[in-house]
Amino acid sequence: MPGEKTETQRLVLVVEDEKSIADILRFNLELKNYRVSTAYDGEEGLAKARAEKPDLILLDIMLPKMIGFEVCEILRKEGNNVPIILLTAREEEDDKVKGLEIGADDYITKPFSMREVIARVEANIRRNVMPQHPVAAADSAMPVSGNLSINTDSHQVFRAGKVISLTQREYELLTFLASHPNKVYSRVDLMEQVWNYGYVGDDVRTVDVTVRRLREKIEADPANPQYILTRRGAGYYFAVN
Ligand code: CA
Repeated sequence: MPGEKTETQRLVLVVEDEKSIADILRFNLELKNYRVSTAYDGEEGLAKARAEKPDLILLDIMLPKMIGFEVCEILRKEGNNVPIILLTAREEEDDKVKGLEIGADDYITKPFSMREVIARVEANIRRNVMPQHPVAAADSAMPVSGNLSINTDSHQVFRAGKVISLTQREYELLTFLASHPNKVYSRVDLMEQVWNYGYVGDDVRTVDVTVRRLREKIEADPANPQYILTRRGAGYYFAVN
């Protein structure tokens, strides 16, 4: 495709205190041609996320010095929308939802297979590089509905002319639904289309949490949404009159 970025080596930051796990992640990611940086506690992870600007972060939850949730929360509060995949322990089901609510994009349950890790990394890594200092203004964005507009060149979303900070997943979910106005998609459809998951287990809660987060950002009243609506028992759709 013209203009598409060719074979740049993407940087994955692995934040994991168990050195054996960090090593095996590094080994397998490098096999897949990713550059890998590692951090062994939360503070180091946060510092490297800020300094090295990775394309994706694999972030363990239970970490010394600062837990993964806190690292994720701080990065999001700073407006850093790097894709973050949390590494969770099997018995911590609630952690998944909590992680998504504070802005993680995805999670992988330990013990994981490397095949699964690579698949999740590839599904979550930015396919398009968002500019660090976007020059696009609201007036060059395409109006979508109401006072919402999207600039698909700069990957920016505006509400009433003001830029809204979205994670990649939130942006992709919004643009997918908005490009098929009034068409209802089930959560399984969305997992396949937006999350690029071939297999969908009980992960559909991911969709609900992401919709909720997106509504909090784009809707004037998230409890009474006007853009992303729920068709009970069927799924979600982007409403255009
Ligand atoms: Ca750990």
